Amino acid sequence: LDTEEFRKQGHMVIDFIADYYQNIEKYPVLSRVEPGYLKKCLPESAPYNPESIQTILQDVKDHIIPGLTHWQSPNFFAYFSSTASTAGFLGEMLITGFNVVGFNWVSSPAATELEHMVMDWLADMLQLPKSFHFSGNGGGVLHGSTCEAIVCTMAAARDQMLSRIGSENLGKLVVYGSDQTHSTLQKATQIVGINPENFRAIKTTKSTGFALSPAMLRLTISSDRAKGLVPLFLCATMGTTATTAIDPLGAVCNVAKDYGMWVHVDAAYAGSACICPEFRHFIDGVEGANSFSFNPHKWLFTAMDCCCLWVENPSALINSLSTNLEYLRNKASDTKQVVDYKNWQIALSRRFRALKLWLVLRSYGVANLRKFIRSHVKIAKIFEGLVRMDNRFEIVVPRNFSLVCFRISLSAIVSDDHYDGEEYNMVNEINCKLLEAINASGSVFMTHAVVGGVYVLRCAVGATLTEEKHIREAWKAVQGQAHTILSACIV
Ligand code: PLP
Repeated sequence: LDTEEFRKQGHMVIDFIADYYQNIEKYPVLSRVEPGYLKKCLPESAPYNPESIQTILQDVKDHIIPGLTHWQSPNFFAYFSSTASTAGFLGEMLITGFNVVGFNWVSSPAATELEHMVMDWLADMLQLPKSFHFSGNGGGVLHGSTCEAIVCTMAAARDQMLSRIGSENLGKLVVYGSDQTHSTLQKATQIVGINPENFRAIKTTKSTGFALSPAMLRLTISSDRAKGLVPLFLCATMGTTATTAIDPLGAVCNVAKDYGMWVHVDAAYAGSACICPEFRHFIDGVEGANSFSFNPHKWLFTAMDCCCLWVENPSALINSLSTNLEYLRNKASDTKQVVDYKNWQIALSRRFRALKLWLVLRSYGVANLRKFIRSHVKIAKIFEGLVRMDNRFEIVVPRNFSLVCFRISLSAIVSDDHYDGEEYNMVNEINCKLLEAINASGSVFMTHAVVGGVYVLRCAVGATLTEEKHIREAWKAVQGQAHTILSACIV
């Protein structure tokens, strides 16, 4: 590594990225390439001789950028966003620059101690119960994804339970979520060896806003208990992926407590909003949970990847995930006075993720982070208002944060009141066509969900560069496509 060459090439790459952001609105938001396109553009094998950074960047421009869906475009309203920021980016640079592997304290004390500190700062910002703070005998750890966080907590819950009831009862353990819980729960269930037949996705309905019903949960658990099964783990969601539904945390934790279960709260997207006092009430009841996670890479201006997990009993994680390798033995670990994060996660190696979070928190401060979140919510409200003003459309579920779920309504297509199943299907198809047309235009990118059999378009505001003018243009694009589609199909 030649430091002068590094400096020169580093500046070129930064300039390249700055230009990318400057021109980002010129690209179609959703990539238009066909599967296999890249194979046709690049050589079949790695170069034998070195190539210059200029040549490589030219290929990035010509061949990689066309194959990107531009998540950082201000016209990106799909999925949940992955918020970029200068501080998050610079934090990543520092992480990669140092390239330390902080699996235990001694392998890079600053990596462990900063993570410890930042997790307590964030726990304060979210007003998590004292029991989740290190000072309250709990603690936080950074993972790459919610999926990893759930696998680890479920493994901890499994081992805690099996130590009580005997490992021969593994096949009796049952995991609960709702039909809106992220698929990550089912994946975790499979990974930790729970019988796939013992996974319960409890049905939700529009009447409860697609939130988990505590009564249905109790009924399902007691029916399992009657069959001799053992309730193990509940994943409650604060801000579901499809519609940002909010499971009633206090009530579902109370049910779970009656059966001695572990409750994990997944707030992957919406957790970030809870740094604003007006949204904090959505996690009221979290004190009844055993663990809580959210992804700052979704909505807290921290570059991919970053998931914060807190547990009220780190020993449960450590008992389940510890390894004791001779070559990692050291005095600090032997004293048990330090955190060795390798025992809080799946892998041994780990990135210094705390550095980017620390940069984000320090560079913007809580005040600005709240301001950014509120600005996204405000833009989403504007979109919601525009939808409501057009009587061809309807808002399908109430908006909680910065996601608006909407669609062309049945009444815009069918004039009489006697709708049958066929007409419901037709409305779904028309909305599906609408989404395809909007995305094909390249001017915006939105995605969909199907909830309670209803196809909805999701407009998720969250890209860092999105301003009010972008959402107004996005609405015009939706209206334009809707006009064309409806003109062709009114019955
Ligand atoms: N949970 C919720 C509620 C989500 O919305 C998502 C992704 O959007 C996930 C979990 C998946 O998170 P990850 O990709 O970090 O595993």
